[in-house]
Amino acid sequence: MDVSIDVDKIREVAEAVRGLGLKRDRYLDDRFYPPPSDPREDQLAYFTAMVAVDHRTSTFGPFEGYINGEFFHGADALWRLGRLAYDDGLFKAERLAELSPEDAKRLFAIGNVSVWDANIRLLLLRDLGRKALKAGGFEALIPNRVSKLVERLRSIRAYEDPVAKKALLLAKFLDGRGLVKFEDHENFDVPVDNHLSRIAYRLGIADVDYRQLFEGVELSREEDVDVRNKVKLAWRLVSKFSGVDPFTLDDFLWSFGRRICTRDKPRCEECPFKAICKARSLGQYPPEHAHVLTWYY
Ligand code: SF4
Repeated sequence: MDVSIDVDKIREVAEAVRGLGLKRDRYLDDRFYPPPSDPREDQLAYFTAMVAVDHRTSTFGPFEGYINGEFFHGADALWRLGRLAYDDGLFKAERLAELSPEDAKRLFAIGNVSVWDANIRLLLLRDLGRKALKAGGFEALIPNRVSKLVERLRSIRAYEDPVAKKALLLAKFLDGRGLVKFEDHENFDVPVDNHLSRIAYRLGIADVDYRQLFEGVELSREEDVDVRNKVKLAWRLVSKFSGVDPFTLDDFLWSFGRRICTRDKPRCEECPFKAICKARSLGQYPPEHAHVLTWYY
């Protein structure tokens, strides 16, 4: 699939982003995240493990339901289950290394509804736990440079994505929570997932012939990496031109992709980009590119 960067469109979008007055999230919602006063090792373990299994949840049907009387969907459901398991001490390197199918059921199922690849997520957590143990724990594993974090985590299967979606997502959480004071802000970047790809194609900052997206031809792993790297570059330039740092931008885009520029029936009337959006000007609303079976994002 041919994707190119449209710098003129990037400047237009950056101008609109600058006017949004975006604020950084600090990830303090107690339903999803542990208390900031907890030991640093525990918090690092939690975020590193939850991000390790934070990839698409609804590949073969929605992952959603009531958890302790409250309805959660998708990634929110996953993090809510994780947060409950955290209170029982599940997020320790040694526990993760030996994670049992029963533990995995608590983490990846709402009643009888299990996330589509629960067994893969179980293996990813065991792999992470073993490598964290070998490193001497999560505090020893996590460096204070994003560039090093991306490189170091690549030997962990959950984090091997060449586009580093999960490593950058982890960096975003750790920076936002103040758990790590990263020294290399110039290496901050957006974690590219389905939402960021779809929005980039629709806005036109990553320019692509929409017929290819509507046809839904599955991309190979290499093609997926190539196009997500281009999407990443497009958003990096939006960040640079708007002056909004990549992590703040990602907080906005993730929520925007779930609520406004949704895959089906985008709510364009409520969209701050409606006057400059390529998809809206064409009256065509393509999905993201097809690359279905992956744990990278
Ligand atoms: S105008 Fe519509 S298609 Fe374009 S970015 Fe906004 S919500 Fe998405």
